[in-house]
Amino acid sequence: MMWMEFSQKQTLGIYISVPFCRSKCTYCNFASSVYPASQHALYVDRVTEDLQGAGAWASERGVELPQAVDTIYLGGGTPSLLEPEQIAHLFGVMRARFDVAADAEITVECAPGQISDATLEALAAAGVNRVSLGVQSFVDREAAESGRLHNRAIVLEDLRRLRARGIANLNIDLIAGLARQTFASWEESLGVLMDCGVPHVSVYMLEVDEDSRLGREMLAGGARYRAGLVPGDDAIARMYERAIERLDSGGIGQYEISNFARPGFASRHNMRYWERRPYLGLGLDASSALYASGPEGNVLRTTTTADLKEYLEGARVEETALLSPDRQFEEAWFLGLRLNAGVEVPRVRAEFGAGRMSAGLRVVERLVREGLLVMEGDCVRLTSRGRLLSNDVFQEFLDVCTPAGARA
Ligand code: SF4
Repeated sequence: MMWMEFSQKQTLGIYISVPFCRSKCTYCNFASSVYPASQHALYVDRVTEDLQGAGAWASERGVELPQAVDTIYLGGGTPSLLEPEQIAHLFGVMRARFDVAADAEITVECAPGQISDATLEALAAAGVNRVSLGVQSFVDREAAESGRLHNRAIVLEDLRRLRARGIANLNIDLIAGLARQTFASWEESLGVLMDCGVPHVSVYMLEVDEDSRLGREMLAGGARYRAGLVPGDDAIARMYERAIERLDSGGIGQYEISNFARPGFASRHNMRYWERRPYLGLGLDASSALYASGPEGNVLRTTTTADLKEYLEGARVEETALLSPDRQFEEAWFLGLRLNAGVEVPRVRAEFGAGRMSAGLRVVERLVREGLLVMEGDCVRLTSRGRLLSNDVFQEFLDVCTPAGARA
């Protein structure tokens, strides 16, 4: 029996992207923007059409679409900007179309200060039991200069309101590397974070790329958005390492490169991605990964368009890739290594065979010598240095099954 047990392929996670925001944060590189409310209604209609047509879509592409759903995640963007009726409608269609487990983990991303009482009521009534708040910094000036519309007091008040409405499984996102951040201000953010008692935290290091206003400004060497006040790479790495230390000593252990949780509170939906279990992504710029029917063992990966107009016009515009077992073997490494639990060699060998595993272990041995991986018993994990250089490590597993002479 392959380690990816049959039962693990039999449940589905649903991700719905809601690309609307009240304002655009300087560092944001997601496909989200400020759109008029009229677009929100059209968007919800379009997503519900895709939900209802998901079975036909899956059969046309020859992939299995499990009926049983055990995780749902509304991400963004800012899903809490949807009207309460739109939230109720989306969840109503999901529950009518799929068998949503009674204990499903149902997460919605919210922006602090942008959850009205009616929205909170709609979320609770829809069965939402986990909320992720995009805080990024508890230092008001840093949050404001990044384009966030909240301050510390607003976040603390939202946490109180969510808990009072019975939603206690809460995540807070922080970013290391915001403009004007210092070691002292980072320590202050971490201190408030620990005091507010949430069971889950995500810590990201600032990404500098062409997809955000701040990133573009930094790459161009400009000064807008306080680009000149962004800490250097070494300082950001030290802030990240300090977060690992401080969270761990407060009982919030790291379980993935960017994610930390008290025991029992790891995000079940996100674990699905790292464990390569099936998910259906709907809405703008959303990815799906579903097992193809038939004996070849392929996985179909699709990503919908990031263009709102194109999406609303109705045709399902998407990029697709068929992942052979060789490509899935690479993913088993670079997704599995993201987890602190690491990659269990016997399980991956049982799924993909001894031949592929020998090629994978040759890479592992080299990276162990370079101090980027460690092998403990049957498990391969990133070292602390490997975690900081994780993208370089993952790169080493690309084409691992392709004979050297046949690589492009
Ligand atoms: S970071 Fe979040 S809230 Fe800010 S613009 Fe991006 S998606 Fe919207």
